[in-house]
Amino acid sequence: MSLQLDRRQRAMLAEMGIQVFEPPAAGGPSAAPQDACEPARAGGTAAMAPGATKTELVAARVLAEPARAGEAASRPGGVERMSWDELAQAVAGCRACKLCSGRRNTVFGVGDRQADWLIVGEAPGEKEDLKGEPFVGPAGQLLDNMLKSLGLGRHQNVYIANVLKCRPPGNRNPLPEEVAQCEPFLRRQVQLLQPRIILAMGRFAVQSLLGSTEAIGKLRGRAHQYLGVPVVVTYHPAYLLRNLPDKAKAWADLCLARELMRPQPD
Ligand code: SF4
Repeated sequence: MSLQLDRRQRAMLAEMGIQVFEPPAAGGPSAAPQDACEPARAGGTAAMAPGATKTELVAARVLAEPARAGEAASRPGGVERMSWDELAQAVAGCRACKLCSGRRNTVFGVGDRQADWLIVGEAPGEKEDLKGEPFVGPAGQLLDNMLKSLGLGRHQNVYIANVLKCRPPGNRNPLPEEVAQCEPFLRRQVQLLQPRIILAMGRFAVQSLLGSTEAIGKLRGRAHQYLGVPVVVTYHPAYLLRNLPDKAKAWADLCLARELMRPQPD
């Protein structure tokens, strides 16, 4: 199955700085790939993930996953049994780390609670803190364009959440103890959502999900796992806005994620 791009999607890719080959004229020379993901597939980077239904493939693995040892006790109890609404309430009232003191809003997450795709970012910035929603502003617009290029949207088969639900002051880097305190909320979101793919955007999302301090450039291009769900590592959209040449790599990462969701032959 190839990804057929309409005019709007081509325009979005152009905005991302991704070159898309035009289909050949009838009777013309041999074709360049019409599927914008073709170069990523040609790379043959990763072990393939499941092709069966979400429920069959993910539910048992995710829900059977034990909680990690050493969790903090100052968070609301019973996170691992909470419903979506209970979890959102618990985050809204959480004071488990000192980030609670400077926040205007908690940023729980946004999107389709039945989604196959989970996008995980790092922490709210100023605009996110004001709005209470992840990935707003220019970085959010870039993410939206990337998703639209795949026929997705933040309310269309996608859920978006951050590792941290409260803004670090001055947009400083999250501290390890803050990530540790907040991680059970993200873990429960994964358990409730049961996504078929997780896209980890940025260094702290990667560190939190994979427990790795390796550079993103070394972790890209292959499938990792979090609670039994395939994880693809990529750059944060805010980074991409400052490093335009790496947009092509991010597009390749999206294509890899889409590839991992394809049904596999028996
Ligand atoms: S960042 Fe997470 S753990 Fe810290 S106060 Fe906010 S919700 Fe609680």
